[in-house]
Amino acid sequence: MSVAPALTVALGDRFATALPEMALPWQAAETPDPRLLALNEPLAADLGLDADALRTPEGVALLTGTAVPEGARPVAQAYAGHQFGYYNPRLGDGRALLLGELTGVDGRPYDLHLKGSGRTPFSRGADGYAAVGPMLREYVVSEAMHALGIPTTRSLAVVATGRPVRREALLPGAVLARVASSHLRVGSVQFARATGDDDLLRRLADEAIARHHPAAADAEQPYLALYEEVVAAQADLVARWMLVGFVHGVMNTDNMTLSGETIDYGPCAFMEAYAPDTWFSSVDEGGRYRYGNQPLAAEWNLARLAEALLPLLASDQESAVALAVEALGRFRPFFDAALLAGWRAKLGLPDGLDDDVARGLVDDLLALLQDNRVDLTSFVRALSRAARGDAGPARELVLDLAAADAWLERWRALAPDADAMDRVNPVYVPRNALVEEALTAATAGDLAPFERLVEVVRRPFDVRPGLERYAAPGPEGPFVTYCGT
Ligand code: AMP
Ligand code: MG
Repeated sequence: MSVAPALTVALGDRFATALPEMALPWQAAETPDPRLLALNEPLAADLGLDADALRTPEGVALLTGTAVPEGARPVAQAYAGHQFGYYNPRLGDGRALLLGELTGVDGRPYDLHLKGSGRTPFSRGADGYAAVGPMLREYVVSEAMHALGIPTTRSLAVVATGRPVRREALLPGAVLARVASSHLRVGSVQFARATGDDDLLRRLADEAIARHHPAAADAEQPYLALYEEVVAAQADLVARWMLVGFVHGVMNTDNMTLSGETIDYGPCAFMEAYAPDTWFSSVDEGGRYRYGNQPLAAEWNLARLAEALLPLLASDQESAVALAVEALGRFRPFFDAALLAGWRAKLGLPDGLDDDVARGLVDDLLALLQDNRVDLTSFVRALSRAARGDAGPARELVLDLAAADAWLERWRALAPDADAMDRVNPVYVPRNALVEEALTAATAGDLAPFERLVEVVRRPFDVRPGLERYAAPGPEGPFVTYCGT
């Protein structure tokens, strides 16, 4: 007889206690027939959670919010936000809940949050549910991002609920258990500001400082320092997206964290053929959030954050605006520096190389890739072989060989470090066609392609024989992601 491992989870109510005005006590919907589809064992270990215990009915009940530990106080979080440029004063968790905060084995607090857990007072006519496909998409893409070293929320588990949800068709429903260093967003600050309650705004800013930017507490002007830290974190984050061809797809202010973690994997996708005007989202009609526009979109969101923080920056508005403008002005230089540093690493360039020379080399490479519709991931990875003397795999991807050879010759003259390049240039990213294939199979009940894809993207830098199809560009042609609800 085997004894089920006991599940011991201590869930705090830090957010609900510090910011009750933004925390609506709420309960998850029942799950008619819960079935665990994916469990992130490495992440469970980081959180000090027993994976075997999470697989028991009691564990699955926690992962769907249907039974929570004593003392936990699940809440729907209130937030506002600009969606595609338009302000909405009341968004909030319309199909999500914050179960509470866990302490990781690193001693830090992490939010345990659910998505797809049923209607809340923020649901605005929508059903509060999520489908298996989009929740597994968030799971696999966030795992890939984490493995690529890009700050991100994580996915702890996906549980099929046994409840069909109505989308373009009837689809199997699911709940995602998400882990983040917090769910504080630009939209959270906008919400607090809109209440007109400066004390609430201050408590929210204090919470963001405590959880994400503790050094700001010691600055002469902590709230200005907080803003500067968020600007820097977002500049760094978006640069990292750009370096791997990630297109977030829905960079509304409610989907931008104060921590600098990527959040909300809806209509996101990896660009294959290099083209700055790439976007995939069916709901992004003007291409507001296309690849090449992401830094601008981030900067725009950070301007909204500054507006919301103004009362904390100075006692008179004129000085507050001047401080905010100056701090926001650093976004571009931060972003440009992070992007250039990233490209220097990707191209294995020597430390001493002049920035202008490096920048010229990068610009010319990107023009070459764009003109020839070259797959970003495979070309850049093939460059280390060119650095070792075999330019074949890189040349094979470019039509204009004269232009390719001219660039390769210029670059190779700088003696690039091939081993260093292989540590930063992924072989495997979750390519759109492979993700779709895995989600389609999973929706029909076959999890094998999904599980294999997760294993592949978890080790993005190690070439493994037999995985060639995961490294190859997908079929050319328009690829569209739907909102992912
Ligand atoms: P998103 O664009 O996914 O970040 O969501 C924006 C807003 O819509 C948030 O307030 C969500 O909680 C809400 N929302 C999205 N999908 C649903 C749904 N199926 N039911 C209720 N609310 C939703
Ligand atoms: Mg969102």
